[in-house]
Amino acid sequence: MIHVHDISKRYGSIEALRGVSFDIQPGEIVGLLGPNGAGKSTAIKIVTGFLHPDAGFVEIDGLNVLRDLRAVQDKIGYLSENTPLYPELSVQTYLGMIADLRAVPASDYTRLLSDAIYGTGLQAYLTRSIASLSKGLRQRLGLAQAILHKPQFLILDEPTVGLDPTQIVEIRALIKALAQDSTILFSSHILSEVEAICDRVIIIINGEVKADQSLRELSMSNDATLVLQRDSADVAQTLGALEGVASIQPLRSLDDYPAWRIQGTADITAQIYALARERDWPLRELRRDTVTLESFFNQLATTA
Ligand code: ADP
Repeated sequence: MIHVHDISKRYGSIEALRGVSFDIQPGEIVGLLGPNGAGKSTAIKIVTGFLHPDAGFVEIDGLNVLRDLRAVQDKIGYLSENTPLYPELSVQTYLGMIADLRAVPASDYTRLLSDAIYGTGLQAYLTRSIASLSKGLRQRLGLAQAILHKPQFLILDEPTVGLDPTQIVEIRALIKALAQDSTILFSSHILSEVEAICDRVIIIINGEVKADQSLRELSMSNDATLVLQRDSADVAQTLGALEGVASIQPLRSLDDYPAWRIQGTADITAQIYALARERDWPLRELRRDTVTLESFFNQLATTA
């Protein structure tokens, strides 16, 4: 697992990270989401050992990233914001060079290279020079170098930045496929991307973790909407007396029926249903409201 413990980092007067902590369990695919300048790249560079934190530490699989950097680097694959790709080299030569740098044993060389090439769909481009590749293909090559040694952990900084919509779809599909074998942490400022790829999101704003939740949990609100066939005088008062109800707001449903938004301190739909039956309210609809990542994020960003 990845254990990030209370890391802080300053660049001169800028506090890029202020006491960031999180854990990532094996097999998870976690998105580090935040606006530009939030501290995502700084966090990723510290997690991968490219940057020293001013305070705090990171452990990967029980190894301290700074103290055991070599051993940690064997366990992680890293796609940085600007992965150094040598434009004059061919795809094949470049990946061969990475395999040598990674000291891949000769017995595994062909298999690992071929898995990275086929896994990222680069087989048709082996002899092409890196300079001649599109941005999307270069990103795939960046991923190929990151996965070459079959790392347990894949850490990707803004993997789809600068790609066109078709390339974005391809890279996302690729990341999801890679998640079958690796634990993945990736950063993004794109909400829909995190929603499309992740199990869990860590929202970072102004160098602080503002939320750390599974997307399923996050989407479940404690609010409920009740719609009746016709108004019933005792609704607001009766609901107000129910335990777990924080507030009630009358509205009209989209099809113009009397409706109420009920804010709860926990999921209260079952209690509302029981009450509606007991009181014989002409029930038309009762639903637990959902929260989109976008509305959740906007709420956090505006209160930050
Ligand atoms: P993100 O990846 O979320 O866009 P960064 O981690 O790149 O955020 O940056 C966090 C803050 O630190 C920003 O205010 C950025 O301008 C600043 N910053 C990042 N790198 C440096 C650096 N090398 N020198 C000075 N300030 C930096």
